[in-house]
Amino acid sequence: MRKFRSRTARLIYLKTLFIFLTVVFVVTTVFISRSLKDFFYNLKISEAENISRSISSDLSHTGESVDLINKLLNDKLLTTAKAVGVNHNVLDKQLLAGLAAAFAVDEVYAYNTDGIVEYSASGKYVGWQTYPGHPVYEFMHSDKESMTEEIRKDSESDLYYKYGYIKAPDGCTIQIGILAETVQIMLESFRLQSLLEKNIDDDVVELFAVNNLYQISASTNSEILNHRILDKELISHLENNKIYGSIKTKTVDGADVYQIYVPLQYKSEHARVVAVSFSLEPINPVIRKTTYISLAGLSIVYLALLIGMIANYFYNRRVYNLAYNDTLTKLPNRISLLGVLERDMEKGQHKRAVIMVRCENMDLINSVYGFEYGDLVFREIANRLKMLENRNIRAFKFTANNFAVYLKNYQDKTELVATLAKIKYLFERPLLIGLESEHLLIKIGVAECTDPNQTAGGLLQNATLALNYSGPSDTVGYHLFDEQMEFKLQREERIEDDIRAGLRDEPSAQLYPEFQPIVDTKSNKITGFELLARLYSQELGQVSPFEFIAIAERKQLINQLSNRMLRAACAFIGQLTREGFGDISVAVNISAIHLLQDNFTAHVLGIVNETGVNGHNLELEITETILMENYGIVNERLKDLRANGIRISIDDFGTGYSSFYRLKELNIDTLKIDRYFINDISKAQKDASITRDIISMAHRLGLETVAEGVELSEQRDYLLEYECDKIQGFLFSKAVPKAEAIELLKNNADCCQ
Ligand code: C2E
Ligand code: CA
Ligand code: CA
Repeated sequence: MRKFRSRTARLIYLKTLFIFLTVVFVVTTVFISRSLKDFFYNLKISEAENISRSISSDLSHTGESVDLINKLLNDKLLTTAKAVGVNHNVLDKQLLAGLAAAFAVDEVYAYNTDGIVEYSASGKYVGWQTYPGHPVYEFMHSDKESMTEEIRKDSESDLYYKYGYIKAPDGCTIQIGILAETVQIMLESFRLQSLLEKNIDDDVVELFAVNNLYQISASTNSEILNHRILDKELISHLENNKIYGSIKTKTVDGADVYQIYVPLQYKSEHARVVAVSFSLEPINPVIRKTTYISLAGLSIVYLALLIGMIANYFYNRRVYNLAYNDTLTKLPNRISLLGVLERDMEKGQHKRAVIMVRCENMDLINSVYGFEYGDLVFREIANRLKMLENRNIRAFKFTANNFAVYLKNYQDKTELVATLAKIKYLFERPLLIGLESEHLLIKIGVAECTDPNQTAGGLLQNATLALNYSGPSDTVGYHLFDEQMEFKLQREERIEDDIRAGLRDEPSAQLYPEFQPIVDTKSNKITGFELLARLYSQELGQVSPFEFIAIAERKQLINQLSNRMLRAACAFIGQLTREGFGDISVAVNISAIHLLQDNFTAHVLGIVNETGVNGHNLELEITETILMENYGIVNERLKDLRANGIRISIDDFGTGYSSFYRLKELNIDTLKIDRYFINDISKAQKDASITRDIISMAHRLGLETVAEGVELSEQRDYLLEYECDKIQGFLFSKAVPKAEAIELLKNNADCCQ
């Protein structure tokens, strides 16, 4: 059912929303924690950049550090020279070469007191003699014990060296040389090392430099010195001069570090990149704390959204229930039924029917016991209909007074009729509410879906039409919608439109009166007329009053129509009086509905007064049924009317069940014997006809008799013989327009002889 489908749909929607929200929450959480980490790591990256920048600038800058390094280098030269000098007496080429290697110097020369090279680590220049003006010579002849020089071009080899000298105890001079390139490298190495160390603090736990060969050329951690970098991704970054940060679970002194490789601006063979390792110990708690705070905020938002969503779901469910269910009976309503039908019709194939059920005496129950009781009755009807429910049958509250039962997938008409019988049976048991026992008058209309192209709305309309098909007095029974019914209903609608149109104009060429003469049986003189309403429809032609009066009654147009005819009758009386026929009466047919109106008497008298006619000329024809069913109230009204001179006839007498005993007490003047009895006269034996008894009994009660539908002269003869007072029928004249009626009056003497 649509209701349940919608409910499921809304639940799925809620679940989807929940999943979506949760995914968003999780993604945002991950994103936030990542962003926070990134933020802190980026801070570290800029810090590393600063360190790199400072190292670069320091490296490029000659200053104190250079002096310091120079001093270190000088120390190195002199230390080496001393070491060599100490061993001077045992010097040979291998030993010098060994010492040179051990001290990482390039040249070692030993000069004798004459300034001649006695030994050389490389074996070169042995025998070469220094000369005045040469730095070695100058040193030998100075009183300095040791000396270092700035880098200078070698006098013999054209290579640049930094030399250091020392005078050995035996007067020999030792010269140590380091190639300028080596000096440069060493210089840098010394400077770098000290710069790296300068930047170590609580945060930065390790610093190292990487050379062109991706070897660690200087480090605050001696263990990793000369290690080669093998990580390809890192190398590719370094090749492209990009910063590379890696959160490595590497530990330096037991701490996790974030290692950032930053290319140096001041590059050399020796140092191309500097790597800074930050301890994660101070960062991690900050990241964690900030993440928790953000998560807490996010959770609040998430929870608020979740609560809002759930609240919204329940609110919508309530709104939905109000929109799709009847609050009183808890049954799904018309919109639900329409939705269910539409959905099923989309699927096609199944047989389906809508059964409309209405309690006919609901108005009466409401007015007698009150609306609260009426509500209980409605609930009881709903409960009874719910008893029928199964996979293929469902009950709905269709409109204020109508219930609908939707039946689908049934085999054939027999099954449909069986369901109808079940519904009828459900309501055969009287309703017991409180102390009251109520018998419900249930009316049923059914429409089957026969046309595959039929719409849900069309099917419901047909079922409603079937329900409304019979007159309001119908009780238990059902009407199945068919084409004939549709045709009749269409015709009824047409007629209703014509009546309405007729009522709009006064006088109207569509809705107008005609007058049928009533003649005295003996004298054959017109004593009065019966006004008969006529409806001419453009589409349908002349419509019988039997048909349009019933429609006017059903569509609540009868009062207007009745009034129109009453006024027409009075107008006609007025005209007749003016033309000298002051003793002619005009009879008007009064429908039961009109007669039972509260202000009926006042209304009739109002028209009489308004038109200024004499009440004696007006006659009202009422049926015996209405009199018998509402005896007290109707008889009272008739009394008032008669007190004003208005005469009362019982129309179609003999077709109802009135007893002559009752007639005696009625405030009436005339009995109009139904055509059925008059018809009978020609066929039956004269003596056996009941008509004469009716006439004589009516006379005994002091009532006048009028025979209706007199078509044959033999009928008139009979009526004359049994002293029926008046006759009305085609034998004399059918109903005619006003002008013709007056004409008939004038020529009365010549008629029907
Ligand atoms: P009714 O009151 O019994 O009216 C007499 C009906 O018998 C009229 O039918 C009339 O044309 C017809 N009739 C008269 N003489 C003969 C005859 O010799 N042979 C045959 N076969 N019929 C004859 P009509 O005009 O078709 O009216 C039908 C019914 O419609 C009336 O029956 C009356 O009940 C109702 N009606 C007509 N006008 C009004 C009206 O203004 N108000 C109300 N409430 N009912 C009206
Ligand atoms: Ca009549
Ligand atoms: Ca009649």
